Amino acid sequence: MTTLKTWVSVPKDSDFSIYNLPYGIFSLDENTLKVGMAIGKQIVDLSAVADLGLLEVNSFYFRQSTLNEFIGLGKELTNKVRLDVQRLLVLENSPLKNHPEVFIAQREVRMHLPVRIGDYTDFYSSIEHATNVGKMYRDPENALLSNWRHIPVGYHGRASSVVVSGTSIHRPMGQVKQKDASEPTFKASESLDFELEMGFVIGKNTKLGERISTKNAGEHIFGLVLFNDWSARDIQKWEYVPLGPFLGKSFGSSMSPWIVTIEALEPFKVSGPSQQPEVLSYLKCDGNQNYDIQLEVGMAPKDSNETVISTSNFKYMYWNMIQQLAHHTVNGCNVNVGDVMASGTISGKDEKSYGSLLEISWGGKKPFEMKDGSTRTFIEDYDTITMRGFAEKKGVRVGFGEVSGTILPSV
Ligand code: MN
Repeated sequence: MTTLKTWVSVPKDSDFSIYNLPYGIFSLDENTLKVGMAIGKQIVDLSAVADLGLLEVNSFYFRQSTLNEFIGLGKELTNKVRLDVQRLLVLENSPLKNHPEVFIAQREVRMHLPVRIGDYTDFYSSIEHATNVGKMYRDPENALLSNWRHIPVGYHGRASSVVVSGTSIHRPMGQVKQKDASEPTFKASESLDFELEMGFVIGKNTKLGERISTKNAGEHIFGLVLFNDWSARDIQKWEYVPLGPFLGKSFGSSMSPWIVTIEALEPFKVSGPSQQPEVLSYLKCDGNQNYDIQLEVGMAPKDSNETVISTSNFKYMYWNMIQQLAHHTVNGCNVNVGDVMASGTISGKDEKSYGSLLEISWGGKKPFEMKDGSTRTFIEDYDTITMRGFAEKKGVRVGFGEVSGTILPSV
């Protein structure tokens, strides 16, 4: 990697280094949404840079309330914009030095959902998570179902309720069946959970009937975000047989506002776990397809300090994004720019790396202590869950910022 030095002030531990330059949607007032790029504690207003005639893309594409139109231009252009801005931020005699209006402080803006999500799919691709859930919900001896090592299992989620970081979520009401009860009851969920996930955003449409091969899948991935798949375990447990998750998931999912491009993450590729038995040929892929991204989950009661309750890593995933996308389209299902595909809960082998409270408290049986002395099994009202993630190698850091959300009482 060539060493890059920007003339913009960037704190040493910033997720938004000159090597990152993620895309997002910001506004200074309620009515004017624009495309920006994060650098340090600032945002580069890309519409202003385009108006100066410094980009190959018309500012029309940056005066949008989502990134869909821009992403739809294709990787050749979107990558060029990122590299052009990178050069402008490095160049000693950069024309941007005379245009302070191009830079806006991140603390002054509101961030919005970066894409218009047509479809949202959630996978279930961590073998440790699937094994833990299988042990609790089914048979400890045969925790993994027989299809799991052959298929990147997933379900079609609900795009309408995907929200940007900072959006509060009301505790869902629903139908639950308590352990010894003969009939279900309607009540507020008592085992509200998070799922530590990453999501990828589709960058290129396919036609109905078209398949994406593992060879070409990378061209269809624009970038990644942090993703919290809020889950009501009691509702989920009663409803999930035989068609899978439904209302226990669709009341809300949160994503981080900055999309880190797959190109910015290239230096952090690592090999994944070995897959046994051998996968079918349409799922085979060459080279390193996992990413070394350090993840953590913090939990904070109202007006109290946060406790870090999980530290995991995206590299643990058994099924990678390339395989997920090849599998998703193998039947001819089309995908569109802005679709989001989430990884599934990212758990590691170690208890400290479990990516959900279901696993951390082992189904509610093992309460854990918070810094303020209170205990938890699941999420209580006014608790805030914050997920963070970054990749780092040889002093180069590319991070995601955070996805955060507070749980409010039921309505
Ligand atoms: Mn999930």
